[in-house]
Amino acid sequence: TMGRKFIVGGNWKMNGTKAQICEILDFLKKGPLNSDTEVVVGAPTIYLQFTQENKPNNVAVAAQNCYKVPKGAFTGEISPAMLKDIGIEWVILGHSERRHIFCESDELIADKVKHALENGLKVIACVGETLDEREAGKTEEVVFRQTQAIKDKITDWNNVVIAYEPVWAIGTGKTATPEQAQEVHQSLRCWFESNVGPDIANCIRIQYGGSVTEKNCKELAGQPDIDGFLVGGASLKPEFVQIVNARG
Ligand code: PEP
Repeated sequence: TMGRKFIVGGNWKMNGTKAQICEILDFLKKGPLNSDTEVVVGAPTIYLQFTQENKPNNVAVAAQNCYKVPKGAFTGEISPAMLKDIGIEWVILGHSERRHIFCESDELIADKVKHALENGLKVIACVGETLDEREAGKTEEVVFRQTQAIKDKITDWNNVVIAYEPVWAIGTGKTATPEQAQEVHQSLRCWFESNVGPDIANCIRIQYGGSVTEKNCKELAGQPDIDGFLVGGASLKPEFVQIVNARG
């Protein structure tokens, strides 16, 4: 833990209506949310401003994606400058659904991370192996490669949170065991120690994501290198409050 502030993100993905978002913001307002935990919710682009305007003060808002340049002929895209313009502080980049469904490469994701940081956004950068990669013994190779691609483009990691999300655990109900998750989190921290430096290795926060629920969050949160969660399905439900408070 080493003084790292616990950070829990909710990734709403392509879900919600204004009415449903009001219900989510209501249970977040009611909480109570542990003030030792940083809380971020990732809203669909079209609801970012609505969420920003109606959220409680102790919750920040993230976009779920953004592009690698400030403006121009990129139909359908949004830029970090636009997010800043409406008061958004965070962006989730490299989510496995962006990598796999929308074919985003390690290099594109790294360019997006670089540009988002340059524009003053804080970034949740997602990495994680598929089931085939895990079964082939390639978990470390894959998450190191994905992290190295970012390292090739940035030098300042202070506004980066890593989300380790094994693809086989996302939306499947198959959570990594606390031992499986801790093993990869520890490997990633060692990678930072060797490749970036001991200070960043000690302070960078590594979230676990993949079928986190109110039932499994406490045991995961007890692992020394797990510094928070990125939560999909359960972030739409009142149990998200219990997940935020897992380190209570
Ligand atoms: C996610 O979308 O980042 C995620 C972890 O989803 P879920 O919690 O539904 O597995």
